[in-house]
Amino acid sequence: MSTDVLVLGAGFGGLELATRLSHAVPDKAHVTLIDRQEAFMFGFSKLDVMFGRRDMSEVWHPYRAIDRPGVEFRQETIVSIDGASRRVVTEAATYAPDVLVVALGADYDLAATPGLVEDGCEFYSPEGAARARDLLAAFPGGRVVVGVLGGMFKCPGAPNETALLLSDYLAQRGLRQASSIHLVSPLPMPIPVSKRTSEAITALLVEAGIEYWPSARVARLDPVTHIAHLEDGRTLPYDLFLGIPVHCAPEVVARSDLVAGGWIPVDPGNFATRFPGVYAIGDVTSAPVPRAGGIAEGEAAVLGEVLIAQLRGEDPPPPYDGAASCYVELGKERVGRIDVNFLSYDTPVAKFNAPTSEGFVEKQKWGAVRAARWFGSL
Ligand SMILES: Cc1cc2nc3c(=O)[nH]c(=O)nc-3n(C[C@H](O)[C@H](O)[C@H](O)COP(=O)(O)OP(=O)(O)OC[C@H]3O[C@@H](n4cnc5c(N)ncnc54)[C@H](O)[C@@H]3O)c2cc1C
Repeated sequence: MSTDVLVLGAGFGGLELATRLSHAVPDKAHVTLIDRQEAFMFGFSKLDVMFGRRDMSEVWHPYRAIDRPGVEFRQETIVSIDGASRRVVTEAATYAPDVLVVALGADYDLAATPGLVEDGCEFYSPEGAARARDLLAAFPGGRVVVGVLGGMFKCPGAPNETALLLSDYLAQRGLRQASSIHLVSPLPMPIPVSKRTSEAITALLVEAGIEYWPSARVARLDPVTHIAHLEDGRTLPYDLFLGIPVHCAPEVVARSDLVAGGWIPVDPGNFATRFPGVYAIGDVTSAPVPRAGGIAEGEAAVLGEVLIAQLRGEDPPPPYDGAASCYVELGKERVGRIDVNFLSYDTPVAKFNAPTSEGFVEKQKWGAVRAARWFGSL
């Protein structure tokens, strides 16, 4: 008899887990993979859309392409989760699986920054990225502020990437001289886990003429005066405000019995929650690692090994070591790579591979390989 595994969320974590279980134990596990969307988009594709490098229609990967033994995709919106009874209700059905995995990612709290909705533009959702694309296309030049509005956000490299890609974009349109770019972030340096990476990125920001304000946070925007007010009392006028919103757990998770302190606490070695048979991976957890697709994928790989060992009656695998590689696109079609390890040593360690044009190609391949593995025949 096969074990019912219900995976909530078909993002980086959910897709990787479903693929691994299908490869290893298609006869022992029946995976139901649920997402409210009909297609997946890589996080970094939002920057491609925003800067007009890819059309929105090119960056969606429809879930209907998933055709794996033992995996069934259902497009449904989850409305309640009860960890204690492993009961999940969607708009279409009720589930009581043997194993429940929550991989619902992080959502955005736009209201946490007064003035953002009225006078700024978030670019972290597909709709936000499309709006940013349109605003940029009509932008005549002026003061742009890229503001990170919360302390914990997806992809620590993304704000730096955004500022540098924006500089390239404005230069290509002949607007760079007529524009200023400010990057405001609560992080003390671009990539806190790596001083060398941070120094290299800071040098590139300076070279590109980007005004970088670390350890600073925009608290509110004034839609009348178009001035951003920082927590420390400083102010910044803007003609265009591009914001990375405050992140929060999806509402259905926040209402569940799984949450403590806003996110789902897990054992960082095997992603078990406090309820038997219930696991959580990716951005939705409070695991002591950054929020990134590469991290969610690594967590899914380990949870996959945990579940495969259980199903085969084998010993559990070694705990998750927090290792991942993160690409950072640093303008002029150059991409660097940071190889990190968050959990194996006393403190997190990182190795920085300087940005190159080969790195740009490597990052494209990285995405293509995942798309082929999750949606194609790899
Ligand atoms: C602009 C940008 C650039 C990025 N660049 C990179 C990068 O270069 N490298 C990298 O590693 N990471 C990058 N990231 C981060 C990466 O996209 C996320 O960290 C990653 O997607 C997290 O994976 P996840 O599985 O936890 O959640 P997600 O991939 O967010 O998946 C969660 C899924 O849950 C679904 N869902 C949520 N609520 C419900 C509900 N109620 N009912 C049904 N379905 C629901 C959502 O539709 C979604 O598909 C970037 C992110 C952004 C925004």
